[in-house]
Amino acid sequence: MHEFSFAYQIFKVAEATALKYNSDKITEVYLEIGELTLIVPELLKQSFKMATSGSIAEGAELIIEVIPGHIKCRDCGKTSTVSLSDESHLTGLQLFQCKHCESKNTEIIDGKKANVRNIKIQE
Ligand SMILES: [Zn+2]
Repeated sequence: MHEFSFAYQIFKVAEATALKYNSDKITEVYLEIGELTLIVPELLKQSFKMATSGSIAEGAELIIEVIPGHIKCRDCGKTSTVSLSDESHLTGLQLFQCKHCESKNTEIIDGKKANVRNIKIQE
């Protein structure tokens, strides 16, 4: 389950930050995830709860902001906003078409990354 290992990584990042500030309690974790990462926010929240059980982040709230996907066309140079179709959820295939010239010669410039933006701790 891809969400669980991801939840654990988030926890490790948050934990390292909290320790740096001499805190032993994390109360909130703010996370940005790209829409094209295929991560399901609800599953991630459940996994985060499991991954942090008994740790300094137990009970911390995971606040997720989903960043839309963007592609850049190699033919016309314009950018388009894209989201995953149901089909690409099933197959994992991600071929995005430029919304301006319909070319498939595109590259993803946004929406494939996830990162911890901020955490809230108790001192
Ligand atoms: Zn184009």
